[in-house]
Amino acid sequence: MERVKYLILGAGPAGLSLANCLKQKGEESFLLLEKEKEAGGLCRSMDVDGAPLDIGGGHFLDVRRPEVNRFLFGFMPEEEWNRYERDSKISFGERYIEQDSGGHGNRYIDHPFEANIWQMKPEKQKEYLESIAEAGCNKGEEMPERFVDWIYWKLGKRIAEDYMLPYNEKMFGKDLNILGTYWLEKLPDVSYEETRKSCMEKKPYGYQPGHAQFYYPKKYGYGELWLRMQKAVGERIATGAAVKKLDALRRRVVCADGREYEAERIVTTIPWAEWEEIIGMPDGFSQNVRKLKHSSTQIEYVPEKMETKAHWIYYPEREISYHRILVRHNFCPNGKGYWTETNKERVEPDKGRFRYMNEYAYPLNTADKPQIMKELLEQVRCREIYGLGRWGEHEHYNSDLVVERAMKLAEELLGSENKAVKRI
Ligand SMILES: Cc1cc2nc3c(=O)[nH]c(=O)nc-3n(C[C@H](O)[C@H](O)[C@H](O)COP(=O)(O)OP(=O)(O)OC[C@H]3O[C@@H](n4cnc5c(N)ncnc54)[C@H](O)[C@@H]3O)c2cc1C
Repeated sequence: MERVKYLILGAGPAGLSLANCLKQKGEESFLLLEKEKEAGGLCRSMDVDGAPLDIGGGHFLDVRRPEVNRFLFGFMPEEEWNRYERDSKISFGERYIEQDSGGHGNRYIDHPFEANIWQMKPEKQKEYLESIAEAGCNKGEEMPERFVDWIYWKLGKRIAEDYMLPYNEKMFGKDLNILGTYWLEKLPDVSYEETRKSCMEKKPYGYQPGHAQFYYPKKYGYGELWLRMQKAVGERIATGAAVKKLDALRRRVVCADGREYEAERIVTTIPWAEWEEIIGMPDGFSQNVRKLKHSSTQIEYVPEKMETKAHWIYYPEREISYHRILVRHNFCPNGKGYWTETNKERVEPDKGRFRYMNEYAYPLNTADKPQIMKELLEQVRCREIYGLGRWGEHEHYNSDLVVERAMKLAEELLGSENKAVKRI
């Protein structure tokens, strides 16, 4: 059995960032265990049709966390990235859109939807405005607790039925009512007055979504960054090491191939449902783990060129299987074609193109999740086991946020060690 101070499970952005932070701070006794042959998790890329393709879906580095970016540029310098102004669209069809919104044909509206209703046909603008005026939140009605009712209340019938509900169903799965509403509370109100003004002045209003500007590597896929982080930890990573059993009291893990490890502290970034067996936890722990839900996304490459300048396009239309297209030739130099993202429930028969299924794509924000995760993370922490990242915390985190959380956890872990040393 191999023993280390820190055992890190999963070498996606969370595990890799934590490992590299520990190393940069002088900690030598750590090991990363990764199920796949290479690191990067959902942020991996592969070469497909002569250019990189991000197999976990479209991945872009946000510019909004300068400390995170500085840390990441330590592995892949800023000169190796292109910085883009986001151009993303929503597909709506000619029935709705009057004119070309900047060289994209007449089936697209700019994202975000609520800021760009002015791009629709005048009669549609009127219908949307009336629907916004009727939204429960604009009429002072009490906030509903179920996801679907909440969307109607917040955005009005038209935005709910034409965009939000079909899009969310396509991405997360059919049963939207298992979702809570706590994660949507920051969604701004759609103001009737501002939408009306925007339609009259023919320009957008309101907030800008994430990735208003983003980085993408000049010569590689997004996965390159994480391969460099893998390289930086040298020998302290074991790949092809799928952990299966955890003894939480002894902090021992057993891999599918029988390898065993023991640690003073374990940081887990893998989905909780991945464990075949966990011992040493209170009653109810495993039931809680089983209540955590996720959705799966398939990526499929299509070699054709798309006549659009958009980086990506959302497809709320129910009759189209995928929910998003990533227009590779618009952000990946030398890249041809595009790729689609489709929920596993909606995947169509194989046409012989490159495909990759991500079983764990989105942690679902079910109504009971906050309480489950609070209990679960507290219970494991008492045993010096820490959940980190998109799956360890079961949160809809993007990679920059995951890196930030890993940086903070490294400080906390090493800080608590120093305090313990001082006490002795
Ligand atoms: C479609 C899509 C688009 C996205 N777009 C963006 C974007 O544009 N920008 C952005 O910043 N983020 C984006 N994200 C989010 C990003 O993918 C995550 O934030 C990031 O990958 C989280 O890192 P992580 O290390 O927490 O999890 P993961 O990347 O999932 O890594 C977990 C690791 O654990 C390993 N593992 C699993 N089970 C085991 C086991 N039993 N034993 C050992 N190892 C195991 C996995 O192989 C994996 O390497 C997107 C996600 C999706 C699904």
